Amino acid sequence: MEKYEIVIGLEIHAELCTESKLFCNCAYTFGASANDCTCPICLGMPGTLPVINQRALEFAVRAGLAMNCEITSYSKFDRKNYFYPDLPKNYQISQYDLPLCKNGEVTFEFDGQSKTVALRRIHLEEDAGKSIHAEVTGDPTRSFMDFNRAGVPLMEIVSEPEIHSPEEAIAYCRAVKEILEYIEVSDCNMEEGSLRCEPNISLRPRGSQELGTRTEIKNKNSFQELLDAMDYEVKRQARILDSGGEVVQETLLFDANTGKTVAMRGKEEADDYRYFPEPDLVHVQIDNEWIDEIQPTLPELPAARRKRFIADYDISSENAEFLTTTRQIADFFDEAAQLSGEPTTCANWIMGDLTRLLNTAEIEIQDSKVTPAHLNELIQLIDNNTISGKIAKSVLDDAFETGKMPKQIVEEKGLSQITDTSEIEAIVQQVIEENPGPAQDYRDGTKKAIGFLVGQVMKATRGKANPQMVNQILARVLSED
Ligand code: ADP
Ligand code: ZN
Ligand code: MG
Repeated sequence: MEKYEIVIGLEIHAELCTESKLFCNCAYTFGASANDCTCPICLGMPGTLPVINQRALEFAVRAGLAMNCEITSYSKFDRKNYFYPDLPKNYQISQYDLPLCKNGEVTFEFDGQSKTVALRRIHLEEDAGKSIHAEVTGDPTRSFMDFNRAGVPLMEIVSEPEIHSPEEAIAYCRAVKEILEYIEVSDCNMEEGSLRCEPNISLRPRGSQELGTRTEIKNKNSFQELLDAMDYEVKRQARILDSGGEVVQETLLFDANTGKTVAMRGKEEADDYRYFPEPDLVHVQIDNEWIDEIQPTLPELPAARRKRFIADYDISSENAEFLTTTRQIADFFDEAAQLSGEPTTCANWIMGDLTRLLNTAEIEIQDSKVTPAHLNELIQLIDNNTISGKIAKSVLDDAFETGKMPKQIVEEKGLSQITDTSEIEAIVQQVIEENPGPAQDYRDGTKKAIGFLVGQVMKATRGKANPQMVNQILARVLSED
């Protein structure tokens, strides 16, 4: 591999979470009964006419702005003609030479460094339906068509071939996914196919400027499969080139079971699709006023947010990375940090106990009964010595379960720390009487014997005594004896 430089460019397809499809009023829900989300337009019936969904255009503009693209003022839709059973019109409405967005960029962290990949374009197109074969129906004699997905708006984000390893390609895809999630244009649910990544891969001799012949791997909707597919394909091309052969430009399918790519079809050229302007739609003109309206609705993007967390909250870059994994986690942290004025403590609770609870319950932070207000109250209770850190964990468990506020839980369960000196002294006296051996050891100079006695006092108070106070009082009482 030292001889070659890997070159990768990606096409990422994201289904937009608009209420209706790209050219009709149908709403699409993943998992709905077959063909329930269809109408004559998305079924491609003769005589029907498409009408562009303005929200889909807006989402594409949002994505374009978030990825520093030029939003083209004049754009159009084109027909991409091909026959496939899941394509009811026998053509897909897409965008050919005049995409909505051009020349963007995506910046992300890779290998401890900031890397920027240029984007060629972002355009809109309609998704196809799905063929249902024997592996689903168990019936090898026929196949079925589900057109629910036909006409769902897809955004295609095309990068320049500027990525130089499979790992870097994954980091790029993750960055794009994160942006799309932050700007709320796609749910990016990879298992449901809302986000699909197609890598184009070629090798060239190190130092060469010319691009090698590429292959394209179809639709990967898991990062692990995407990585495995790219790894396999890079090695396959290297073997071909090593033996003096030539890579054939083609579209490949990666089979996760065998871990190999197989040829799906020879690479089509644009000519094969007989692209022509879609005559049933008007051209799209996006004026600056509309862009100016959309721009301020964009949230702070993940990279900017990470920077701010590090600068304003003094959070390490690893923690900032974690706390911006999703916009909802970042919102939660931001709010809790501002309420409590203790960002580091908030970060520890969120990354530790709260994440453990969320993982066990298999829910996302936004679906949790614990809110930033809960976390803030919990932190205040520790700060003013009402409860110990240990009790706080059980209070959080309880709040997670019931949604009750920490103060209420502490009151109802009588969890307040015992900070009354005389009360602790009484228990200390009793523990010393019951454990004369360790008490004597301490007096004889085995200072660490106090640990056992502290433990006994904590046990007697069910963890509610303030440990520092227990330590001090024990030491005093023992030396007074
Ligand atoms: P299509 O695959 O539909 O023909 P493009 O020609 O626009 O579309 O290229 C698709 C993707 O392939 C882009 O992301 C581009 O960066 C990438 N690409 C093009 N040539 C190469 C190459 N020689 N090696 C790796 N990636 C490439
Ligand atoms: Zn429809
Ligand atoms: Mg392609």
